[in-house]
Amino acid sequence: MSVRVRIAPSPTGFAHLGTASTALYNVLFARKEGGTFVLRVDDTDTERNRPEYEALIYESLRWLGLDWDEGPDKGGPYAPYRQSERVDLYRQEAARLIKDGKAYRCYCTPEELEAERKQAQLEKRPYRYSRRCLKNPPEGRSVFAVRFQVPGGEVRFTDMIRGEMKFDTDLIGDFIVMKSDGYPVYQFASPVDDAVMKITHVIRGEEHLSNTPYQLMLIDALGYDRPQAYAHMPLILAADGSKLSKRKHPEANLILFRDRGYLPEALLNYLALLGWNPGTTQEIFTFEELLESFSFDRVQHAGARFDWEKLDWLNGEWIRRLSDEELAIRLQAFVPELDLETIRRAVPALKTRLPRLAQAVDYLDYLWKDPSTPALDPETAQRVRSAIEVLRETQWELEPIESALEKAVEQSGVSKGKFYNPLRDLLTGKKVSLPIHYAFALLPKDVALSRLERAA
Ligand code: GLU
Repeated sequence: MSVRVRIAPSPTGFAHLGTASTALYNVLFARKEGGTFVLRVDDTDTERNRPEYEALIYESLRWLGLDWDEGPDKGGPYAPYRQSERVDLYRQEAARLIKDGKAYRCYCTPEELEAERKQAQLEKRPYRYSRRCLKNPPEGRSVFAVRFQVPGGEVRFTDMIRGEMKFDTDLIGDFIVMKSDGYPVYQFASPVDDAVMKITHVIRGEEHLSNTPYQLMLIDALGYDRPQAYAHMPLILAADGSKLSKRKHPEANLILFRDRGYLPEALLNYLALLGWNPGTTQEIFTFEELLESFSFDRVQHAGARFDWEKLDWLNGEWIRRLSDEELAIRLQAFVPELDLETIRRAVPALKTRLPRLAQAVDYLDYLWKDPSTPALDPETAQRVRSAIEVLRETQWELEPIESALEKAVEQSGVSKGKFYNPLRDLLTGKKVSLPIHYAFALLPKDVALSRLERAA
């Protein structure tokens, strides 16, 4: 049977790091096994879904190069791939469960259920639904939800990371599969789709480990084949050790990683290392190298803290691996004020300095922003005038500018730092810049000189 895997993000917020890391592991597995990677949109939460979030999921995954074979936008043999368009199927399957005596209509009101829960709390016992509507349903009511009758006993399955898993379902009360509004809950729609779409391996975040026994009971009750295996990947944790979440950690938004100038190659490399140990000291992995080395038996069990410093380091390494031309092209989106030719000239100096592409702006914005002109003390003004003099005679290219400035430093009798700092300040308005000869050469000669002249 050929491998089929899926991710099933919910469009209830931006696509985040967890989405990317789950997608990466699914894609790696699919590509390695020559299988199919499915994108299914879990949009049964009618109140919180937004089409713009669905668009962001596509945009973020495409940016990372984690492309899918089947999905809402692509179609495929198991279309539709949006759960909101599959509600008839869930209704039909719920009706089948009822007909087979495996689920029942539950007419209890939220208040009645709350009262049951409170009573259990009072008696200090774990809450499970009383089965009132199975044994003795109230009469004369028409609003109902569909509740699955948990068969009891054990659910066993293979987890590709944790090995053989065993859950005691006697601890699980009968649970709702269809709400009274006629829509399914995640716990029902997800396994129905996994089964119907012939998913062979369910690879998802560890937060879903406890859902798996619920979902397997449903797959069994409906008489479907189970997926061959599950893999529950370690959680990504924030710096404080809490689980990274869309709501609490807006910085986990994938689009922000793009906009801050992380390379998709670097982020994928980082995410792979976050949950998995290659067993060697290698840290830089291309996607092809990951394909070759990745395996589930080296995935760790514990959650992993997201380390921005390490990501920045990896990103810098990846930036330095790009050819100058490729780097120039990727920088264009970050400095739209500049033409490609100017960016090309800046690249050799930028390459060794950037941890993130967006920081190019800090080095280059003096090219389109005129800095203010500070007052100079007479000595400094004298040195600036001597710089103007040599530069006026200089051919406007990197090397001639560099040697002209060095000559001027020598004649001044002060240190390079002392000579260059005021020049840098007048030219760029900043304390840190590209090497001074680059800072000059990137500006047109007349503009550069006029920034010095008006101060001196
Ligand atoms: N919509 C769920 C999520 O985004 C999917 C979980 C699953 O993979 O089953 O977490």
